[in-house]
Amino acid sequence: MTKTFAIKKTFTVNLAHKKIPVVMGKSFGKFARALEAFALSEKVLVVTNPAIRKIYGDGLAKSLRAKGIAVSLAEIPAGEKSKNLRALETIYSRCVASGLDRGSVIAALGGGVVGDIAGFAAATIYRGIRYVQIPTTLLAMVDSSVGGKVGVDLKEGKNLAGVFYQPEFIYVCEEFLKTLPAQEIKNGLGEVVKYGVISDKRLFEYLENSANSRPKWRFIIERCLRAKAAVVEKDERETKGLREILNFGHTYAHALEKAAAYKNVSHGEAVALGVLKECFLAERLCGFKDTDRVRNLLAALGLPTSPPSGVTSRAIVQAISADKKIRSGRISLFLPSSIGRAVFMKVPIEEIKALIAESF
Ligand code: ADP
Ligand code: ZN
Repeated sequence: MTKTFAIKKTFTVNLAHKKIPVVMGKSFGKFARALEAFALSEKVLVVTNPAIRKIYGDGLAKSLRAKGIAVSLAEIPAGEKSKNLRALETIYSRCVASGLDRGSVIAALGGGVVGDIAGFAAATIYRGIRYVQIPTTLLAMVDSSVGGKVGVDLKEGKNLAGVFYQPEFIYVCEEFLKTLPAQEIKNGLGEVVKYGVISDKRLFEYLENSANSRPKWRFIIERCLRAKAAVVEKDERETKGLREILNFGHTYAHALEKAAAYKNVSHGEAVALGVLKECFLAERLCGFKDTDRVRNLLAALGLPTSPPSGVTSRAIVQAISADKKIRSGRISLFLPSSIGRAVFMKVPIEEIKALIAESF
């Protein structure tokens, strides 16, 4: 007989067809108990990358095996360039070779790339098996692990093949942050500030007041995840335009990343700059008055407040002109009217281009 354990979930993402528990555990040892509690402990394939396998994957596999869970590992190379069909095939092969069946579970242990590709593998192998998210980066903890967007890049562009496929639960463990490189912490903080500006005044004020002290990660992550969950609950499959609020700062960020050829600027840094740039836009269009506070907070967190040298405004303007979201010369955005409050706007692309040409 399988024993069942109660596991304390921090909160639940309530979707129409499914409730997804978010478990915030202090140590990753609790993950095995969570698997048991959710009756997912038969056979598990942990998908990860080589570096994370060394630091956490092997230990995780050991702790699961100690509980009698059959575990195998699949590795994909680190980085966005391996979020492709070839890596997906590697995972499929590992699923078959390890004897996974329709009752088995995939555990995505890593950052956004691992989460996206492992989730897509779970959605498609044997026409869909269950999976769980174990984000190890701050960015994945506060953003990509919730929402169910999974997929791979094609040579024609990013995230072109994918589906919405929700995990059985999300296991967030702040212990992983102890080993996360400072640059990767910054990468996540760009999104954290985004949530503060667009929907959570309390988070924003907490960040302002504690920028120089040790961050309370649990508080920060939970606020972000709740903000994201609230949006995903209302617009799971991005059909109502509400999920667009999560893209605050990203119109500029994506253009900057493209103009920089995805080099020398991390996603989080691009988002930080996008947040600032779109605050200027909000000043003009919806009376936002706190751009200085946003700039000061970004600087206090060690995030950039001006674009990297070598990327010209002209290149960014060019990249923004090719944005697929432009409709009849306008782009739909959520902009803050004050810290923590956002309004929906259709902004003429010319207005955005003019702003890019101005300095920060
Ligand atoms: P993404 O998929 O979002 O690009 P990765 O999983 O590639 O993120 O992680 C980014 C970098 O940080 C990689 O070099 C990875 O090995 C490393 N990394 C991820 N999580 C941790 C962690 N908890 N501790 C140490 N290094 C980590
Ligand atoms: Zn982002």
